[in-house]
Amino acid sequence: MGIKIIIGKTEARLECPDATQDLELNTKNRNAAIKAEHIQYGPLNLADDEYWERAAEHWNTEPEVAKKSKCSNCIAFDISPRMLECMPGPTSEPIEDEEGYLGYCWMHHFKCHSARSCYTWAAGGPISKDKVSYEWQAKGSKDEELEEKIKKVKGGYFVTSKSGKHLSKKPHRTKKAALAQLGAVEISKAERGK
Ligand code: SF4
Repeated sequence: MGIKIIIGKTEARLECPDATQDLELNTKNRNAAIKAEHIQYGPLNLADDEYWERAAEHWNTEPEVAKKSKCSNCIAFDISPRMLECMPGPTSEPIEDEEGYLGYCWMHHFKCHSARSCYTWAAGGPISKDKVSYEWQAKGSKDEELEEKIKKVKGGYFVTSKSGKHLSKKPHRTKKAALAQLGAVEISKAERGK
């Protein structure tokens, strides 16, 4: 069952993330994370040393060091109690196999495995508290809302109303300037002119 919380000015209805409930969506997001050059989720075969050699090259380090950057300690890896409840079922439960367990990835929105990694790994995880899990979700909902209000056109980005009307005469040259119109970010005068 979902709950509603307020974080700052953001009100979000925090159900389980869709990909934890929809196997097709989970698979689609997972496959996209495997294929995207800037993500490269893997290795698919946990014994694949070549993956870690490539990751090490990407991060400009050694494979042994790269191997320490896994989903299990990534800032986006959610194994909070509420998230584990979102992942029931024999195929998706947070299995403690010999290699690790599943958690939810808030960056790429699928159930990822603690022993894998990706190029967007960031230190600071895992997420083990419900409060932090809800904060990630609320932020994601806010980002989605903002994305829906920005329309990319030739020459820049328009902020649009609910009915799709452009809310400025000219498009902003940068997305950041469009976000600033929505009050989502602050920009300098110089950036505003861009
Ligand atoms: S962002 Fe983090 S949790 Fe998500 S797939 Fe990459 S390493 Fe795993």
